[in-house]
Amino acid sequence: MWGPTTGKRRLPGTGRAGEAARKRPRKGKKAGGPRAAAGELPAGPDEPREVGQRPDTDGPAEPAEGSGKPAGLSRRQRRNRQKRQRQQETPAGSDGERGSGPGPPDPPGPAEAPPEPRSDRSAALRARMEERLLGARFRYLNQQLYTGSSQDAARLFRADPAAFHLYHQGFERQVRRWPERPVQRIVRYLRRRPASLVVADFGCGDCTLAASVRNKVHCFDLVPLSPRVTVCDMAKVPLAAESVDVAVFCLALMGTNLQEILGEANRVLRLGGTLMVAEVASRFEDTHAFLKAMTQLGFRTVSKDLSSSYFYLLEFVKTGPARPGPAPGLRLRPCLYKRR
Ligand code: SAH
Repeated sequence: MWGPTTGKRRLPGTGRAGEAARKRPRKGKKAGGPRAAAGELPAGPDEPREVGQRPDTDGPAEPAEGSGKPAGLSRRQRRNRQKRQRQQETPAGSDGERGSGPGPPDPPGPAEAPPEPRSDRSAALRARMEERLLGARFRYLNQQLYTGSSQDAARLFRADPAAFHLYHQGFERQVRRWPERPVQRIVRYLRRRPASLVVADFGCGDCTLAASVRNKVHCFDLVPLSPRVTVCDMAKVPLAAESVDVAVFCLALMGTNLQEILGEANRVLRLGGTLMVAEVASRFEDTHAFLKAMTQLGFRTVSKDLSSSYFYLLEFVKTGPARPGPAPGLRLRPCLYKRR
């Protein structure tokens, strides 16, 4: 046990510095994050468009004029004069007036061709459509993960590993917008603890945790984003009973079989070992009931940091084996993304 049992003790490594998230107002859709819209994954401010943005191929609006400009004429008069000169030089109906700026040559076509080449417009449209499709697919996968069991998730990704990569791309894009990544809080926490502690990272993603600490970290996920990953369903990890000191679920309590998953964490943790949970704040329907249910699973709350509007950080200690029977308070809302 690493600390006294106090309801609201701050976690080691969760001090004031750099905790911009906690200073955010709790209400208001954009600034307040998840609690404003229950069950919705918090999104940060809009990012600049990444795909489908039209490249700026237009030349300067006003081409620079050479030194030999006739003195005493207004800009308009000079332009008209140049135009008349060009009309005399080029055959009627040719495209001689266009395409003088930098960028690709104009395609052949009628004199009143649109200012933006059609190929550019259709490429931009295609990129936007692809972006939308990817977004829709990501939201669908995310919904599957939060509304099915961990076994369903394992089946889903086994059947379609490409879906897993798409999910992770979407996840990354989303979490990048947060003021702080929860995994960094857990990194800081572990760095303050002895490096000899053995850790199990349930739903490790790209193994950021393992890569950031000196501890031995067992990394579990459904598809290997890194060679460190042991591929398995987190409800059944290939570890001996009571073999780890710290179990971590960082944004990874996705399956509906929460009791089974947390029971597995209890099994592999030694008595007095630590369970760290970082989870999207809006997923907690009733935090008090959740923490109470955790006692039935053999975990006592050591600290809880509920100050971020993005995620909660909970620290538990294993007090004994999970007691059988239903734990009705053990509920988390699915974390769904809205179409933006
Ligand atoms: N912990 C990482 C990744 C969080 S994303 C981080 O904070 O950056 C949630 C991860 O849990 C995903 O990588 C997902 O594949 C994994 N996951 C979801 N259900 C799982 C299951 N049943 N077994 C193993 N991993 C699972």
